[in-house]
Amino acid sequence: MMSKPASTRPNLALKRRIALALRRSRHSQDTGQHQIGVQAAEEALLLCELPHYLPQWQQAMAQLALHQFRMGHFADAVRSGLEVAATLGFGTDAALRAEVLCVVAIACNEMGLMQDGLKYALEALAAARSSNEPIQIINALNRAGVCTYGALGDLEQGEQLLCQAAEQARLAGERVLLFAALNNIGTLYSSEARKQLKLGRQAEAHTLLHCAMQHYQDAWQSAGSTGNRHQWAMLQTNLAEAYVDLGEFDRGRAALAELRHALAGSDFHSLQRNADLIEATLLQRSGLVGEAVAALQQMLALPGNMIEFEMRHFAQEELYRLYKSSGQFELALAQLEALRHSEQEQNEQRSSTQGWAIRKELEITSVQLAAERERLYAERERLRAAQLEAEKIVTEARMSELEQAVLIDPLTGVGNRRCLDLEGPARLAALGQQLHGMAVVVVDLDHFKSINDRFGHVVGDEVLKKVAQLMALSTRGSDLTVRFGGEEFVLLLMEQSQDSALRCCERLRLAILNYSWSEVHPQLQVTASFGMQWCQAPLPWELALRQADLALYQAKRLGRNRLQLASPG
Ligand code: GH3
Ligand code: MG
Ligand code: MG
Repeated sequence: MMSKPASTRPNLALKRRIALALRRSRHSQDTGQHQIGVQAAEEALLLCELPHYLPQWQQAMAQLALHQFRMGHFADAVRSGLEVAATLGFGTDAALRAEVLCVVAIACNEMGLMQDGLKYALEALAAARSSNEPIQIINALNRAGVCTYGALGDLEQGEQLLCQAAEQARLAGERVLLFAALNNIGTLYSSEARKQLKLGRQAEAHTLLHCAMQHYQDAWQSAGSTGNRHQWAMLQTNLAEAYVDLGEFDRGRAALAELRHALAGSDFHSLQRNADLIEATLLQRSGLVGEAVAALQQMLALPGNMIEFEMRHFAQEELYRLYKSSGQFELALAQLEALRHSEQEQNEQRSSTQGWAIRKELEITSVQLAAERERLYAERERLRAAQLEAEKIVTEARMSELEQAVLIDPLTGVGNRRCLDLEGPARLAALGQQLHGMAVVVVDLDHFKSINDRFGHVVGDEVLKKVAQLMALSTRGSDLTVRFGGEEFVLLLMEQSQDSALRCCERLRLAILNYSWSEVHPQLQVTASFGMQWCQAPLPWELALRQADLALYQAKRLGRNRLQLASPG
């Protein structure tokens, strides 16, 4: 006789242990003990045997993402959040999906990935609306407001979304969320003021800062004492910052003291570092340069898990400026080098987080695709049995279409941007190992708008198709041709040397120039401009692409129908 394996039936004691761990995790969220929260969430995760405890696993992952975010571990928060979002749909899970995507959005924002932040905030808003839960909708509107300003710099639109959040929070009697919305409007004004200060526009900056103050005060009054420690600390951070920017140092010092008090014993590392920075600025502006330097040095000496890249970056920048302005050029230079190093580290972390997110999305798409394929396969079998030939052909066509659609540009049949997002970073990373060298080439058709205008869109489309064909003919099977968007293509040429890559581009440029375009339209002429970045050692993908794009811009400036190599370094 075979006994049933224990894991086939959820057991009650285990379920209770998971529930307890989850409760501890949630409790430490309220008290700001995020270190303990992480431990509790991880304990729950270890206990959750999938697939029986999927909902608990999802809860634990969502908790983990939030704790990581509050501790300033933004890249970790993005990964945990997206990992669980991938398992949450728009049905009964929509509310939790909205909640975690909000965390992902704001973590992206903190990492400087503004566009990604906005994308996830809008996804959160869609999930929140489908869940129909006011709290989630308000929360997502809040994030969307902050991210809209972050990504687009649009104060008006950002404020509008935040006002909606405030309005709905007021209606729903959600004081914590009302506080968040008003406080966030204040931070938009503060950020805008910072921009004006940098431009030397004192008067505009002061008006904006007073607006910010007004919102901070409104936030505090309408929320009353909500007992939420993180919010209180955030408010004091914002007030201290605004007072310092306004030059009201005594008030700034008082807010800072209040903030230190609120932060004592908490795991809000990000806010703690913010307080350190405000303190250093305050010292410096009060003329205590030596003390400001010491405060920044102390901050930079903290272990890596206590200070994230962004904060380290700010501190290094500040220190560099202080050394420079006090004539300590050797120290300034050393600081500049450290700054460069951390910038590189930050770039790497950003692109690895983005790459990870893209792969995750592709994974999800291909799982959905596999399910759809299976469904269609079953359908085909059913139709075969019923001898419905005509319908079967349609189903089969749809099936192969689906398989192609993910990575192929439908108009030209070459790869699409998704394909490049996947292949580009992978190929660059393999340089120096399996691959010898690679050219990243951005090709943009010249004056394409006027081709459309003069001969119509159908001719324009025909040109795009022909150019894609010429590209496929001029390159090898191991190279990659991608339509990046509109009339812009990207080529990845796997070559032995920069010279052979240049020759390949030149062949292609001539092929486009000399093609008998009159067959398409009697007066038609087509040329293209090329920007190329030659890569022999791994470098961040985004950088390679940007360099090639800059070179393309040069080629356009120098008169088009030419190839420009990216300037080295
Ligand atoms: P430049 O030499 O500086 O690149 O000038 P341009 O006119 O090529 O560049 P611009 O970016 O101003 O115009 C690109 C045009 O490409 C505008 C848009 O209508 C057209 N376009 C984008 N996608 C398609 C498409 O799929 N089919 C057609 N026919 N036209 C497209
Ligand atoms: Mg063009
Ligand atoms: Mg273009």
